[in-house]
Amino acid sequence: MTVRPAVVVGVGLGVVGTVGVAAHVAPSLVALSSVGRRISPRLAGVGLRGHVALTFDDGPDPTSTPHFLRVLDALDVHATFFMLGDMARRAPSLAAEVAAAGHEIGVHGDTHRSQLRLSPRAVADDISRARDAVASASGVEPVWFRPPYGTLSLGGVRGARRAGLRSVLWTAWGRDWRAEATPRSVVADVLHGYVDGGTVLLHDSDCTSAPECWYSALEALPILADELRGRGLRVGPVGEHGILIPDPVAA
Ligand SMILES: [Zn+2]
Repeated sequence: MTVRPAVVVGVGLGVVGTVGVAAHVAPSLVALSSVGRRISPRLAGVGLRGHVALTFDDGPDPTSTPHFLRVLDALDVHATFFMLGDMARRAPSLAAEVAAAGHEIGVHGDTHRSQLRLSPRAVADDISRARDAVASASGVEPVWFRPPYGTLSLGGVRGARRAGLRSVLWTAWGRDWRAEATPRSVVADVLHGYVDGGTVLLHDSDCTSAPECWYSALEALPILADELRGRGLRVGPVGEHGILIPDPVAA
């Protein structure tokens, strides 16, 4: 799978413009670049220094998510799981189990389609359906929203706001969706990003990526937790990351 260069959606501040084409887990400039972090730090997932927000996208998946719950429990780490509405409808008890384990629940869209390929109305409908499905399955009211592929349209910003969700992307990722990813490569890729005060993206399902690639993220977790704690960083969910003040873009 080829990861093409960034899709960027201007969301105010005069940054409107789309670069590239939404491909499989295409990176978002807002999510990864220092420019994006400056334009909209809270949208990019910049929070408290000394803290790292750990996040997982694309679940809940009965094949893989229980393994993540087990390892996170052993590490005494809580994270934020950005769930797909479609997946939550298929595994509602697992969504509830994630919440019961003390993890934070976020919304990742309903069917994992790029917002750039949908009308503003369709995007808003997708987010609303996803929010309802995730809330119903998990039993909690989600607070956070992360769009598929990290591509956020203006309609997406508004749709998330109407659904009562705050949009947050990421500052570091493990590129764990690739078939060639290994636990070591995942750790190295994460640490290559903006980590201290940043938000880390991993995946607890392979439903949108290379089959069984989730093993690399799973096995990276203990190594990553050691590395981050060794740097004096606390690891936790987005809700403990200090992204509290309304942001001109993400509010
Ligand atoms: Zn995703």
